[in-house]
Amino acid sequence: MNVAIVGGGIVGLASAYYLAERGADVTVYEKGSLGSGSTERSVGGIRAQFSTPVNVELSLESMAVWDDFEAEFGVDIAYRRPGYLFAAREEATARAFEEQVAMQNDLGVPSVLLDPEEATEHCPGLRAEEFVAATYSPTDGFADPHLALQGFAQAAREAGAEIRTKTGVTEIHRDGGPVTGLTAEGRRHDADFVVNAAGPWARRVAAMADVEIPVAPKRRQMLVVEPETPVPEDVPLTIDLDTGSHFRPEREGAALVGGYFGSESGESDADPDGFDRKIDLDWAAEAIERAGDCATYFGPESEIRRGWAGLYAVTPDHHPIVEETAPGFVNAVGFSGHGFQHAPATGQLVAELVLDGAASLVDVSALGSERFERGELLEERNVA
Ligand SMILES: Cc1cc2nc3c(=O)[nH]c(=O)nc-3n(C[C@H](O)[C@H](O)[C@H](O)COP(=O)(O)OP(=O)(O)OC[C@H]3O[C@@H](n4cnc5c(N)ncnc54)[C@H](O)[C@@H]3O)c2cc1C
Repeated sequence: MNVAIVGGGIVGLASAYYLAERGADVTVYEKGSLGSGSTERSVGGIRAQFSTPVNVELSLESMAVWDDFEAEFGVDIAYRRPGYLFAAREEATARAFEEQVAMQNDLGVPSVLLDPEEATEHCPGLRAEEFVAATYSPTDGFADPHLALQGFAQAAREAGAEIRTKTGVTEIHRDGGPVTGLTAEGRRHDADFVVNAAGPWARRVAAMADVEIPVAPKRRQMLVVEPETPVPEDVPLTIDLDTGSHFRPEREGAALVGGYFGSESGESDADPDGFDRKIDLDWAAEAIERAGDCATYFGPESEIRRGWAGLYAVTPDHHPIVEETAPGFVNAVGFSGHGFQHAPATGQLVAELVLDGAASLVDVSALGSERFERGELLEERNVA
C-alpha cells in the first residue's frame, strides 16, 4: 500500500510511523521543515479532562503511548504530570463539571470534583473566593512537542518511511474517483492513499482533492512570564474556564500564560503563510491581568520574558475530522488546539483507516465531516 502524507507536523509523523510500522510504503511531504507549522508552537499539554467521551478516549489511547514513549521510541520527551485544574466561576459551568467528572470516571479517568478551598491544595495561589467549583486530574500534564516530534520522525524513518522536507504539495489527483497520487514541486507521485495532516492548511489541502471541510486557522498566543511570586513546579496547568485564562509552571518559578478572550464567532481566520507571529501587547497585558484575577502569582510587576503566536486549526465543534472523506483521501485535521496530545491515537487511527478500511482503536464515527452538514455537532466545553 503506497501512502502519501501531506504535512510533517506531529499528526503526519505519528501517522507515518504507525503506517510504516504496519508495512505500508509511506512518504511524508512537508513544504517547510518538520514541525514548522503548529507543532513547534504548541505548549505540549496532555489531559484527559475533556467534556465528550470521544475526546477522552483519544486522550486515554494517546496517554498510553506518551507514558511509554521513552521506552518505545528512545526519546525522553520531558513528560511531567502535575495535573490539570479546571476552575469554574459560573454555576452552569460547575454543573457541567459534575457531569463531566462522572463521564470521565466511567471511562477510567481519575478526575475529581473539588470545592475551591480543596483546589488550593493543588494550586496554593488560586483565588478560591473567585470560584464556585473545580476539577482536577493527577494524570494530566505536559511534554515537549519538539522532542516528541523528533521521536516520531526518527521512528518513522527507522520503520521505512521516507520524509521529504521543503517539498510542497500543489495537487492531489483523483479525477472525481479514488485518489491516484499527488504533485509536489512539479513532480507527480503515485499513491493509493493521501492523508491530509496539514494542520492550519488543512482546508487548502482538502480543496486540492475537491473536498470541502470547515477547518479554520485561528491565531493563539502564549507568554513566558516571570511572575511576582514564583509558580511551584508541582502546580497543575490551571484553567479559569469562564474567562479563558490559563497558566502552567515552567522551570525555576517562571510560568507560561495564555488565553483567548475574544468571541470565537467574530474572530477572522488567519493566513497560515502570513500571520503575525509576534504577540500583541494589549493582549499580553490582558493575559497577565486575567491570570492575576485567577491566582495570586501574577500582578502588575510580573515580567514578560518572551511570547509567540501560533495557529489552532479549529472546527465549528472543536473536534477533529478523522475519516476517509473521499475514496483514498483521509483527513486527520481540525484538532482545535488538541492535536499535539491526540497525535498518538490519531496516527494509529489513520493506519487503521488506510490498512483495515475502518478505525477500531476508538469509535470515531462521530468525527466524520458530514456532521457539519447534518448539523449533528458535538460540543467540547473544555477548550482553552
Ligand atoms: C499557542 C499554541 C498552544 C498549543 N497548545 C497545545 C497543547 O497544550 N496541547 C495540544 O494538544 N495542542 C496544542 N496546540 C495545538 C497543536 O499545536 C496542534 O493541534 C498540532 O500541532 C497539530 O499538528 P498537525 O501535525 O496537525 O499540524 P502542524 O504541526 O501545523 O503540521 C502541518 C504541516 O503541514 C505542512 N503543510 C501544509 N500544507 C502543505 C502542503 N501543501 N504541502 C506540504 N506540506 C504542507 C505545514 O508546513 C506543517 O508543517 C497548541 C497550538 C498553539 C498555536
